[in-house]
Amino acid sequence: MEPHGNGAGTAQSTKAAKTKVAFYWCASCGGCEEAVVDLAEAILPVLDKVEIVLWPVALDYKLEDVRAWRRGEVAVAFVNGSVRSSEQEMWVELLREKCGLVVAFGACAHLGGIPGLANATTRDEILANKYQRSPTVDNPRGVLPQRDTRVDGAELELPELWHSVRPLDQVIDVDYYLPGCAPPPELIGKALLAILAGQLPQKGAVLTTDKSLCETCPRNPTKPAELRVERFRRIATEAPDPTHCFLADGFVCLGPATRGGCGERCIRGNMPCRGCFGPPPGAIDQGTKFLASLGALTAGETEAEAAAVAATMADPLGTLYRFSLPASLLRARRVAKEVHR
Ligand code: SF4
Ligand code: SF4
Repeated sequence: MEPHGNGAGTAQSTKAAKTKVAFYWCASCGGCEEAVVDLAEAILPVLDKVEIVLWPVALDYKLEDVRAWRRGEVAVAFVNGSVRSSEQEMWVELLREKCGLVVAFGACAHLGGIPGLANATTRDEILANKYQRSPTVDNPRGVLPQRDTRVDGAELELPELWHSVRPLDQVIDVDYYLPGCAPPPELIGKALLAILAGQLPQKGAVLTTDKSLCETCPRNPTKPAELRVERFRRIATEAPDPTHCFLADGFVCLGPATRGGCGERCIRGNMPCRGCFGPPPGAIDQGTKFLASLGALTAGETEAEAAAVAATMADPLGTLYRFSLPASLLRARRVAKEVHR
């Protein structure tokens, strides 16, 4: 990856000036914020060079303060979480306007992530299940959240919930991607140091290796050249051999359809890969990339036999698109004419 010039250097106008950095979160679980905290002592070399000017999980902030920033004054915004509401959209557009670089931080900003599985259903179904059908909800009039409400004489305005979940680059221009659920602290530290040094790869790069996970996997030597899966097995009901390639033993492992660089975290914990680093270079759709190999993987000779083997996979959508549904070719199930509203 060849370094090139970028807007990050402009924010550190003098040697003594600190590079201003922002962190923001949209639809996410908070795990990416934990990953920043997990930098621990690894962050020490950069602390005297960096000033965190926005970090809602840890620091008080005001929208007006961010609106008052000069364009490019803040070198980089790390945005985690996918975008589903009007408020999230407003914030990421504001950060795009004000910051030199925007990094999609973590699987949800990169690909839609776990919140993106909501694209398998509709906004109306989600609201009805949550506020009307849930057995623990007492809501006899079936009231749903409204954007504008009067409470005790005061006007209350809530963000609007869009029809679908979007990764960051479907909303604003994104400079770089830090993959993972959550991104490993080592990758975050490397990215911060590269930004400070102005040594970043070409715009649009995913800041990790270009190899697939299978290529770096310690179990790769046990992966046969020709895999023959008779039926798919589940880790919930059967214990995988900790020394074997998962796929060789019939456990769905997205290693062949996933970018490497995570340190094979799940594999080393005897869990198959679920694909949080997204598809490898050249593949647009992670599920399709895996499915393309499925015909060759299954032991069925005919299409019907192959389909019978494929049918033994539990929850194919949630397994093959666990982190990437909104960024996939399927994208979303929608009832509205507009893309997301
Ligand atoms: S399929 Fe999974 S276990 Fe097998 S080599 Fe690839 S990443 Fe490793
Ligand atoms: S093994 Fe797969 S799911 Fe686990 S951290 Fe790595 S890329 Fe993500």
